[in-house]
Amino acid sequence: MNLSRVIDFLFSRYCLGCGREGDFICSFCRQRLPRRDLHPYHLTGQRFIDGIYSPFFFQGIIRRAIVELKYRNLKAVSATLANLLSECLKDNSLPGEILVPVPLHPKRVRQRGYNQSFLLCRDLGRIIDLPVAGNSLFRSCHTRQQVDLSKEERRLNVAGAFSLHGEELKEKEVLLVDDVSTTGATLDSCAKVLKAGGSRKVWGLTIAQEEHETG
Ligand SMILES: [Zn+2]
Repeated sequence: MNLSRVIDFLFSRYCLGCGREGDFICSFCRQRLPRRDLHPYHLTGQRFIDGIYSPFFFQGIIRRAIVELKYRNLKAVSATLANLLSECLKDNSLPGEILVPVPLHPKRVRQRGYNQSFLLCRDLGRIIDLPVAGNSLFRSCHTRQQVDLSKEERRLNVAGAFSLHGEELKEKEVLLVDDVSTTGATLDSCAKVLKAGGSRKVWGLTIAQEEHETG
């Protein structure tokens, strides 16, 4: 294989739904995404977040795309997901004036090489023309992966995990961006810190909402 064919092969995109060449989510598969309504919701036990917006359920192609983005190093999927998100937002006026990614601990950023929430913020910010505050909120202690934890364990696991630098988010309406919300414990823990730092409102925005079954 000559070099240009190798490059074509490496950068070819195949639909995560049907395998068709072109984009990660082809126009046909876009018609059958697991959409949910875009009204803001609260999850039980949340006290600080003003509401969460998630246009999709964590199922099917959306689930596959997020797994690729998070665990298989397919960073380019971020732009596709940000695009989908922006299309959903077009018809809904969303509150918020600045995007803030849910931070990962530096140790996990080193392992993965990037923070997927930061990539989503960056790509979405470009499309909908909102600034991104990528360094204000940070994770001050390393926490366990939430995947196998019950709802209460998740809440305790992230309590006190986040801190804030500077005053960039003071008096601001913040849109906290993450890939998936499950129990909402992480978003609420971030919102607590932001409100204590003077943010006026804190909304969550995630690609998908996952039903939490274990607790
Ligand atoms: Zn497809």
